[in-house]
Amino acid sequence: MNLIFLGPPGAGKGTQAKMVTGRYGIPQISTGDILRQALKDKTPMGVKAKEFMDAGKLVPDDVVIGIINDRLREGDCKAGFILDGFPRTVAQAEALSGLLGKMGRQIDAVIDLAVEERFLVERLTGRRTCKNCGMGYHITFSPASKTGVCDKCGGELFQRDDDNEATVIKRFKVYKEQSELLGAHYSAGGRYRKIDGAAPMEQVFKRIVEIIDA
Ligand code: ADP
Ligand code: ADP
Ligand code: ZN
Repeated sequence: MNLIFLGPPGAGKGTQAKMVTGRYGIPQISTGDILRQALKDKTPMGVKAKEFMDAGKLVPDDVVIGIINDRLREGDCKAGFILDGFPRTVAQAEALSGLLGKMGRQIDAVIDLAVEERFLVERLTGRRTCKNCGMGYHITFSPASKTGVCDKCGGELFQRDDDNEATVIKRFKVYKEQSELLGAHYSAGGRYRKIDGAAPMEQVFKRIVEIIDA
C-alpha cells in the first residue's frame, strides 16, 4: 500500500502515519523528520534547510525530491510507504509520479486531512515530540502521563522551533499558496479521499483504515 497524506500543518499527518505504521508495518516517510535529523547530524543539507524551516518557508524542491528519491529505494519501502509532508508543491507531485513510474509503482490512495485553520494554531503550539523515539504528544489533546517525559521510552519531550505562533501563521500562508491545490491535482486521479481531520484521533484513524482496507 503506497499512501500520501496531505493536509495543513498540524492536521494530524504524522500522528496518523505512526498509527498506520503500527497497524500495517509500512514505513512513515516524513521529509520534515528527515530534514530535522540532517540538521541534528549537522550535514550541509540540514544546516541550509534550517533557514527555510525557521522562516516557515518550503525547502527547495530539488532538495526534498532528492531525499524522496533516495528514501523510496530503501528495502523497507518494498511493501509500501506513507508519504507524510511530501509532496507539498505541484512540481514535487510531478517529480514523484516520474520517480514511481521509473520504479514501476504507483500511489494507491491520497488521503487529505481537512482541519479548519482555527483549530490548528492550538494543535501546533501544544505539540511536543520525544527526542529519543519521535513519538508525538499534545499538551491538551494527547498529553504524556508524566509532563515532559515520553510514555513509550522515557525520553525527553521537546517543542519544535517552528511551532511558535508567528512561524505557524507563515506556514499556513505557504500551505494555502503552494500546497492546498494538491487536492485538486490528485482529485482528478480517482484515488483521492478527503476526510475530516478535526475528529478525535481514533475516529480519523478508523476512517483511514476503511480506506486502506477497501
Ligand atoms: P508540519 O508538521 O507542519 O506538517 P513538517 O515537519 O512536515 O511540518 O515540515 C516542517 C518544515 O520542513 C516545513 O515548514 C518546510 O520548511 C520543511 N519541509 C518539510 N517537507 C517539505 C517538502 N515536501 N517541501 C519543502 N519543504 C518541506
Ligand atoms: P502534522 O504532522 O500534520 O503537522 P501532527 O500529527 O504532528 O500534525 O499533529 C499536530 C498536533 O496535534 C500534535 O500535537 C498531535 O498530538 C495533535 N493531534 C493530532 N491529531 C489530532 C486530533 N485528531 N485531535 C486533536 N489533536 C490532534
Ligand atoms: Zn519516546
